Amino acid sequence: MPPAKSVTAKRIVRKSNARPGFETAWDERKVRGIRILQVPTIAKLPWLIHGFSTKPGGVSDQNGEKVLNLGFAEWDTKENVLENRRRFQSALGASDLQLISLEQIHSDIIHLFNAAPAELCRGDAVATNRPGLLLGVQTADCVPILLVDPKKRAIAAVHAGWRGTLQRIVVKAIGQMQMHFKTKSADLLAAIGPSIGGCCYEVGTEVAAQFLSQFPEAPDWFDEFRTGDEPNPIQWLNMMPPGHQPPPRNVLLDLRKANRAHLLGAGLRAPNIFVSDLCTACRRDLLFSYRKEGPQSGRLLSVIGIR
Ligand SMILES: [Zn+2]
Repeated sequence: MPPAKSVTAKRIVRKSNARPGFETAWDERKVRGIRILQVPTIAKLPWLIHGFSTKPGGVSDQNGEKVLNLGFAEWDTKENVLENRRRFQSALGASDLQLISLEQIHSDIIHLFNAAPAELCRGDAVATNRPGLLLGVQTADCVPILLVDPKKRAIAAVHAGWRGTLQRIVVKAIGQMQMHFKTKSADLLAAIGPSIGGCCYEVGTEVAAQFLSQFPEAPDWFDEFRTGDEPNPIQWLNMMPPGHQPPPRNVLLDLRKANRAHLLGAGLRAPNIFVSDLCTACRRDLLFSYRKEGPQSGRLLSVIGIR
């Protein structure tokens, strides 16, 4: 195994010419029709398994198309989902690991497991330093974040929608890793997987107001609609205009940018944060989007485990 430090150092040099922190060179692993997205730097760790699922392959039937739906849904059978999960784990080389997923509730609840729990737990992040467990979060627009501490050999999987992001769930998950595994933030590698992009994620100005009231850098995470006439909603929110001014329309929120900022704020080094630029809403050929597909949407699964 090459020393982790030299690997990291090489990547800093290479990426200093590109957009810092925005890693577009993700690997795609194709196994029997299933396509899995991986971060090369993380995939190099021989004791670790990780991957972000995509839509193609699988046995679920979504409007006549065979898809890899990895979350239980009204429109799909339990058998299909279990078979899809089996195929996904097999494609990852993780058949012998025990998948742990949560009943996700857009909270900031983080679970630490030494072994697979007897029943489904409610929460939105899970962490461990034990081998044999495959930690997973399900998404279809929300941001999946995988964390690895290569020194202490500890991992976490985080589900961050706008509510989780507002509650700083990824920062709190790192806090748990620091407390329980003695993780140092500067050692952590983070992969922010495919999610709805700032191009497509429309939220109400009341959501923007909550972010703006909590995070000084929040104006960077929002964008106005480029339709022409209406006032800039971000400016409108910052200026606290008089009540008679016309209310602004919705704004666009870049959740990945927000979570990347949280990671940097928590002490991660920019070259150790890998952000997928794939948008679930733009890439319906490759990904699932709840915003675009509604209740008929499938679920992506992002997993990480110690062999
Ligand atoms: Zn988009």
